[in-house]
Amino acid sequence: MHELSIAVNILDIVASTCREQGYSTVRAVRIKVGNAAGIMTDALVFSFDCAKSGTVAEAAALDIDEVPVGGACSDCGSDFTVDEPYVFNCPVCGGTAFRISSGDEL
Ligand SMILES: [Zn+2]
Repeated sequence: MHELSIAVNILDIVASTCREQGYSTVRAVRIKVGNAAGIMTDALVFSFDCAKSGTVAEAAALDIDEVPVGGACSDCGSDFTVDEPYVFNCPVCGGTAFRISSGDEL
């Protein structure tokens, strides 16, 4: 369950940022997760809630912005997004000459 190690990494980043900037408590942590990042967001929220106890983020909620997979097609010039975590063809023209531009964020 690699969501737990991701949650622990997020909490480490939050703790060191708080130390650097002099904050003692955190109300919310907002992250972006791409649909193609291979993260189960429910499991990540669960892991965050388990791991946050005793940290500066103990009372914080984890807000996740899910980012769809998107790309730019050089056949038809379209910028597109898809609901699936993958793309094989441009959804506009069916071409394969596209470049993925979003969806692997974490
Ligand atoms: Zn296209």
